[in-house]
Amino acid sequence: MRSVVSSRIRGLSGYTPGEQPPAGARIIKLNTNENPYPASPKVARAVEAAVGRLHLYPEPLSDGVRRRAAALYGVTPENVLVGNGSDEILALCFKACCADGGRIAFSTPTYSLYRTLAEIAGVEVVEASTFDGHVPAALLGATANITFLCTPNSPLGYEIAADEVESVAERAQGLVVVDEAYVDFGGSTALALIAKHANLLVLRTLSKSFSLAGARIGLGFAEPALIGELAKVKDSYNVSRLAQAVGEAALEDPDWMRQNVARVIATRERVASELRAMGFRVPESSANFVWMDCSSLGGRAVYEALRRRGILVRFFDAPGLTDGVRVSIGTDEDMTRFLAAVADVSRSR
Ligand SMILES: *Cc1c(COP(=O)(O)O)cnc(C)c1O
Repeated sequence: MRSVVSSRIRGLSGYTPGEQPPAGARIIKLNTNENPYPASPKVARAVEAAVGRLHLYPEPLSDGVRRRAAALYGVTPENVLVGNGSDEILALCFKACCADGGRIAFSTPTYSLYRTLAEIAGVEVVEASTFDGHVPAALLGATANITFLCTPNSPLGYEIAADEVESVAERAQGLVVVDEAYVDFGGSTALALIAKHANLLVLRTLSKSFSLAGARIGLGFAEPALIGELAKVKDSYNVSRLAQAVGEAALEDPDWMRQNVARVIATRERVASELRAMGFRVPESSANFVWMDCSSLGGRAVYEALRRRGILVRFFDAPGLTDGVRVSIGTDEDMTRFLAAVADVSRSR
């Protein structure tokens, strides 16, 4: 039977999210960079209050979230766009900047959703690889509707230096997206640059440092003119009343987030040094995960051996990444069990 779906879309494989085991499964989940600690207790109280007003549509621009984000980050509410996760804001960038086709650019390895969205939009991809965080020359000189910089980077954990981010913003003709999903875990932010560069969009999410991956709240920061254009192409009510209440409460309690982040960073440093002591190469990470190079065993073999021991990490079957796995930082207890499993895998090969 003839399909009703466009042939270009039928030819795509789509984004592959990390596996989500069913609730109650006895698995240590270190594969999607979630925060192992719960969100601020203020969030639960805010949800309860919002439930009573669910018969009403939410504020279209999430004004309460915008005001709190503006206060916390030292910008104006007009500088803030609130999305159904930062993934939605990434999709809005394609809608707004690639409406007539074109091309996008990014350095690899990076967050694979940029490519998936480019395929869906039917735009060309210019890519250049970097394994140390220096922006490749090919990227600096590229003409692209959108250039993506993910810093701290996933999956390798390095930062892109602030001055290199600024040179990209200065030279780019198109939109420059700085994806700072992990910045609270040790990166330096490009937020101060939005006042100087009208083509710069800084993306944050409450999914990682604020422990709210399930609530779907992302933030975009840019000059008001750019925020206004992106807001034109979003769904009118893109963030639910419940999510807005959650976001407002979390942004009012940044100390809770900072405490959890401090714990994750301390655990990350312990895990990195113990893995190095076992002979694995682990690059410095500014995020809530580490890259573990296990070239002698192979990334897939380590992923599978850990999985058999009830521990899920992320293996990427992608160029330059098959020699290692990405390990999200869980609680101290989780990571002690992870390290014991790695020692066991190394011994039994
Ligand atoms: C997790 C992540 C996102 C997505 O964040 P959501 O707000 O949960 O959609 C975006 N970019 C990068 C690099 C991420 O790791």
